[in-house]
Amino acid sequence: MDMIENPVPWPGGARVAVCYTFDFDADSLLNLVHPDDAANRVSATSYFRYDATVAIKRICKLFEHHGVPLTFFVPGWCAEEYPHAIERILEGGHEVGHHGYLHENPNQQTRDREHYWTNRGVEAIERFTGRKPRGCRAPMYNFSKHSIEILTSLGFEYDASLMGDDVPFIIQGRNGGELVEIPSYWPLDDAPHYLHSFDLDYVMPIQPPRLATEVYMSEFNSMWKHRGIWVCTFHPYITGRPARLDFVEQMIKDMRKKGKVWFASMEEVSNHVRKLVDDGAYTPRIDKVPYKQGRIGELEEGASAGRLT
Ligand SMILES: [Zn+2]
Repeated sequence: MDMIENPVPWPGGARVAVCYTFDFDADSLLNLVHPDDAANRVSATSYFRYDATVAIKRICKLFEHHGVPLTFFVPGWCAEEYPHAIERILEGGHEVGHHGYLHENPNQQTRDREHYWTNRGVEAIERFTGRKPRGCRAPMYNFSKHSIEILTSLGFEYDASLMGDDVPFIIQGRNGGELVEIPSYWPLDDAPHYLHSFDLDYVMPIQPPRLATEVYMSEFNSMWKHRGIWVCTFHPYITGRPARLDFVEQMIKDMRKKGKVWFASMEEVSNHVRKLVDDGAYTPRIDKVPYKQGRIGELEEGASAGRLT
């Protein structure tokens, strides 16, 4: 049975689009969560800096060897702190997208603050890459009720923070601006499989990479069968370790062997969908966001019973 009602026609007759994306967080989140004593957390800093010192070079080399493009979502501070890693990413022709400034949580901020940090992140990326980021993945996927307006006003073309479909769709703000939404999905995020960090209060049990890979490939096989999109959210310091990356290499080989796979950057997917929509060749689902303006389920006028919680 076909499970995806409205599959996107991928280039070259491909059955599935595959986007390998890495969020280059390094120690941004450690400094955000522990601003007063991050400097004293030397081991944790070392763990997260592995992104910039070891993993990014290795990941770029591996994917370039297999001719697969990458998309990195990067907090602006990480570009300022680790410019050599950005240089290495650009050397391979990979995409750099926006991911906050210091990994701030957008839906815990006022509109002005979110605008400030988004803009500061964008400026940093532009300074180190020479171009504005086209896409955004909100830190922790926490796209806020203000995000659509802020992102469209800053010239973004796509977002990768929502999870509500198996194919890209369009999100529209109340100001009329819109973005291509390229959805992410928790089973394809490496954190719930592997992340073990007491400093971030995110302690998953240690398991062999075979198990995570089984999940990733189950998702891939069904997306191939039903003509969807496969977008992973990996982190260099998590997935860039040799044992885990060995499994990723095997995964790339298995995907390629299966055939009819379009390996693309997120920007390429966004451009492809935008062109299909503009040409009238594809009718996407359109979501107006935010989905709700405020609290649901207020007491009706005159009612006296309150909720217990
Ligand atoms: Zn992140």
